[in-house]
Amino acid sequence: MSPDAGAIALDYLYDRNPDPGAIVDIEPGVRWLTMPLPGSLAHINLWLLDDKDEDGGDGVALVDTGIFSNTSKEVWEHFFATGLGGRKVTRLIVTHAHPDHIGLAGWLCERLGIELWISETEWSMGRRFSLDAGRILIDSGLALFRRGGLGKEAEALAASRPSMRIPTSPVPENHHRLRDGDVLRIGAHDWRVVVGRGHAPEHCCLWCPTLDIFIAGDQVLPKITPNVSLWPGRDDPDPLAHFIETLDKLRDLVPDSVTVLPSHNLPFHRLHNRLRQLRDHHDERMDEVLAACDSPKTAADVVPVLFRHRKLDQRQMAFAMGEALAHLQYGVTTRRLAREERADGTWLFQRT
Ligand SMILES: [Zn+2]
Repeated sequence: MSPDAGAIALDYLYDRNPDPGAIVDIEPGVRWLTMPLPGSLAHINLWLLDDKDEDGGDGVALVDTGIFSNTSKEVWEHFFATGLGGRKVTRLIVTHAHPDHIGLAGWLCERLGIELWISETEWSMGRRFSLDAGRILIDSGLALFRRGGLGKEAEALAASRPSMRIPTSPVPENHHRLRDGDVLRIGAHDWRVVVGRGHAPEHCCLWCPTLDIFIAGDQVLPKITPNVSLWPGRDDPDPLAHFIETLDKLRDLVPDSVTVLPSHNLPFHRLHNRLRQLRDHHDERMDEVLAACDSPKTAADVVPVLFRHRKLDQRQMAFAMGEALAHLQYGVTTRRLAREERADGTWLFQRT
């Protein structure tokens, strides 16, 4: 994720995030729980939706989990002790398999005797990473970063693939499969599953037309642009194309009037403005990448073009390589760049 200079023209519903563990009513039956996160993101927003259990009793569905840590567990335990008002937790819905969203899925499902609702791709990715602790990823990361022109640095970087090296509780063996267009009855309301791509391969947003609320996950964030990376071990060969397609899909499907509930930063209005800003952001970056590729460039050459205002540590470098490769690949798909392979396997990109 990167800071976004053009974050204008959005209306925020709140001035700041509530303290970790505090519960805020967005609407009756839709509540907001902030969970702390290490690092610059600082927190993730989780959502608590009034639901019914199988016998028609009152309950609460959870959306996303927070990272696998004792602090997150303490926040949840505090909520179970004080925030349920005698109701049961009915189910866990997870937007996508990044560790701040799925990290406690195994623990929550076991602790509460509930089941996981998630898309097939995100479930299998989350399960793979939780079982092999990122092993497969390190190998594929190494290959990708070598192709990106990082040379010897590739090895250290591949081994550091940070977000996937963060441990998660084991992702449950079974799941209810969410598909694009599914309508979930959660309590008194229908929520439509809207699958987005590019940030994660099968990311589920939830849209409730009656409440005019859109749970955006990481697909649409205010203030920062969602990370879009060609990502080792992921089955998405052209994530930026898919991210941009999703911006158009959301513009056509989800009305501008919705209250957007993002996973980071603050709830906001004016979704369509934000979609346009994100589109402009990537168009500008593509222009910079194309200009840089007047002569043959590797992904590593392009990183300082995209991130010229920031000094990158190793963890950020991994994301930056992923983002550079995503932009270069999109340039190839749209026939604005040609890719050649050097004898040592490194990819070179040049304007057509
Ligand atoms: Zn994410």
